[in-house]
Amino acid sequence: MDKKIKILLAEDNINDVKLLEKEFKKGKLNYEILTVDNENDYIKALNEYNPDIILSDYSMPVFDGLSALKIRIEKSPLTPFIIVTGSINENTAVECLKAGADDYVIKEHINRINPSIKSALRTWDLNIEKEKAQKALVESEARLSNALNIAHLGPWEYDVLNDLFTFNDLFYAIFRTTVEKEGGYTMSSAEYVKRFLHPDDTEVVGVQTKKAIETNDPNYNHRLEHRIIYRDNREVGYITVNIYIIKDENGKTIRTYGVNQDITEQKRVEEELIIAKNKAEEMNRLKSSFLANMSHELRTPMVGILGFSEILSNDLENEELKHFASSIFKSGKRLLNTLNLILDLSRIEANKQDVLLMNTNIGSVTRNIVSEYSILARNKKLYLNFDVKEEDIYSIIDERVFRSIIGNLVDNAIKYTNEGGVIIVVEKVFEDNKDWAVIKIKDTGIGIPDDYLQTIFEEFRQVSEGWSRSFEGTGLGLTIAKRFTDLLNGIIKIDSKINCGSTFTVMLPLVKEMHSSEVEKEVIINSEEKIVSNKTLNFLLIDDDKDVYDLISNLFKNYNFSYADSEEKAIEILKKQKLSLILLDIHLGLGVSGIDILKKIREIPGCKKTPVIAVTAYAMINDKERFINAGCDDYISKPFDKKELYNLINKYI
Ligand code: ADP
Repeated sequence: MDKKIKILLAEDNINDVKLLEKEFKKGKLNYEILTVDNENDYIKALNEYNPDIILSDYSMPVFDGLSALKIRIEKSPLTPFIIVTGSINENTAVECLKAGADDYVIKEHINRINPSIKSALRTWDLNIEKEKAQKALVESEARLSNALNIAHLGPWEYDVLNDLFTFNDLFYAIFRTTVEKEGGYTMSSAEYVKRFLHPDDTEVVGVQTKKAIETNDPNYNHRLEHRIIYRDNREVGYITVNIYIIKDENGKTIRTYGVNQDITEQKRVEEELIIAKNKAEEMNRLKSSFLANMSHELRTPMVGILGFSEILSNDLENEELKHFASSIFKSGKRLLNTLNLILDLSRIEANKQDVLLMNTNIGSVTRNIVSEYSILARNKKLYLNFDVKEEDIYSIIDERVFRSIIGNLVDNAIKYTNEGGVIIVVEKVFEDNKDWAVIKIKDTGIGIPDDYLQTIFEEFRQVSEGWSRSFEGTGLGLTIAKRFTDLLNGIIKIDSKINCGSTFTVMLPLVKEMHSSEVEKEVIINSEEKIVSNKTLNFLLIDDDKDVYDLISNLFKNYNFSYADSEEKAIEILKKQKLSLILLDIHLGLGVSGIDILKKIREIPGCKKTPVIAVTAYAMINDKERFINAGCDDYISKPFDKKELYNLINKYI
């Protein structure tokens, strides 16, 4: 059903009211009506009744139609108004319409009232819609102008035929000027160039504008960036210009138009970012070279500390001195361990941790790592058991990285266990639709409280922190284990109960079958304490570090051992005698590189195949490949222990 029409009727004659209502009913008008016959009631009704339409008699004893019309214009200008009168001549009708009435109906033709009401209401609806649309248009224009302003956009138009630019306030705002200062919204292209363009960019702007005008492409759109001069302080700014064209029916460009955008701030930020990026790259480069140097500088003295203390702790007779020497050795080892942890972490942080991936037998490499901790466990009277469930468990790993993960976890397991011991299990597991090589390190130690389990892999986190901490350590081991496991696409998990022990589980993607093309890396467990050979052996050490010389000459005291601290001396020795193996320092001081010496060695007849082992304190992960690619047979990093060196030598003699 239609909405009820609210009619306000200004009429004093009750018969006329009846007449009208009869007509409404005839026309089946859905309505309600309020009748008034004086000005006060009329105004009150306009305010409170809120009519949809006003009908008014032309003349009444105390009120009249024209006054009613006037009041309607003031109070409710959009409400339709129809004069209903008995006597009206042509002039009165025109007068009413001029005054703003929408229609007039003469009582003799009262049957016109219903169509007149309907038509007036339709017009009213349209007016309302129109007003709404107009309001929306004004609002959206304001919004657009606001948006252009915020985005520093300034539209313009160029009349090609008359060489005339037309601008607006937004355009001028970009150049920090006003229409008053520029003397109007239009100017010639020469004037525009003179006032606004940076002199060095006028040519490029000219060329691009010409191109736009001469193009045959009706959809031409070109974006151009150039410098401008701000009008207020003559500083240099940057804008982008989007140029579009309008052609006439003959295809001739008659108009170009476009939008300028101020991008000075954006440019400034970009420039700052470039400077910051260059600086960050430079810092990163410095950091890497600092790391490499640190590694070299800290490892070199460790050769003497660890090497000599190890010899002394074996050879000294006096028990007290022996104990001192082994304390120096243990402290040195601990220092080296911390150094390695810090270097590993810095390399991960600097994204410098390159990996050398190889298909590796996880069981045998883990067994090898674990064997290095047997003395540590024995000293604490703990068992250290190893259980490989299957022999063919392979994964693609970087052995050094893997060693660091398992080493840290086994070291912790022993450190945080006082009774019982540690068991390491290697097995295959199918989980989350994948096959995994799994290494479990289970201890019967102190366990980790629940609230620490979430954060324990974060840097420097330790259950006992601060001055009261009861265990030694940096708080980096687990962080490194986690980051390195990520690097090998693996997962590390922890399960722990306070006072019952912890289980750390490392899961690495399992390689199902070995392909013949893949290099298999089997770890040979070799723990000889001496050089094993029945040949007469001649060794040469090329190194300028006196400590290294003292240490190695002691280790080789039962063999023929020569020493050269310079290239010349080395060549001299090599020309005179045939050597079984050469130990070559890579960094000989004063800018002499072992790699250059190696090239010369290889040129000496009889030295082409002599095994050369690089001995260096550069221990970054890709250094090994660098030395081997340069022609060395193998590599050992300083500081090394006796066993490590003997094992390596045994491989080549
Ligand atoms: P830290 O050098 O302190 O051992 P880690 O990062 O290796 O550093 O370990 C962080 C902390 O996690 C340790 O300080 C210790 O509180 C706890 N934690 C690690 N492993 C174990 C474990 N097997 N048993 C009990 N607590 C452990």
